[in-house]
Amino acid sequence: ASTPSDSPTIFDKIINKEIPANVVYEDEKVLAFRDINPQAPVHILIIPKVRDGLTRLAKAEERHFDILGRLLYTAKVIAKQEGLEEGFRIVINDGPKGCQSVYHIHVHLLGDVKWSGLLA
Ligand code: 5GP
Repeated sequence: ASTPSDSPTIFDKIINKEIPANVVYEDEKVLAFRDINPQAPVHILIIPKVRDGLTRLAKAEERHFDILGRLLYTAKVIAKQEGLEEGFRIVINDGPKGCQSVYHIHVHLLGDVKWSGLLA
């Protein structure tokens, strides 16, 4: 779905183990797995297990402060786990004009990135 929607997404199926994913990290609140179409040698998606209205960053409210912090903190934990000591990139796409395709908020963790510009 490339249009904003409150409908369940493919990520719910991954959370519920209805479709397989290459999971690299999981805790009570957060799940992280490798992107099926990687844009860099390391490309991991970090998502909240409960969407709670966070289809996109533009929908963030004060109640989301904790989960938003957790997503970024988890990116750092996974970066270390992946051996990205020399650095990594974090991307959040928002909305139809921000290249977002899955309306369940997610942080992209990119490692060993070849491109040097702001966008792929
Ligand atoms: P967005 O464009 O919304 O920021 O990123 C969505 C990402 O989800 C894309 O990079 C896409 O490759 C990834 N993706 C879409 N469907 C699946 C899937 O079924 N499994 C996995 N692992 N990644 C997916």
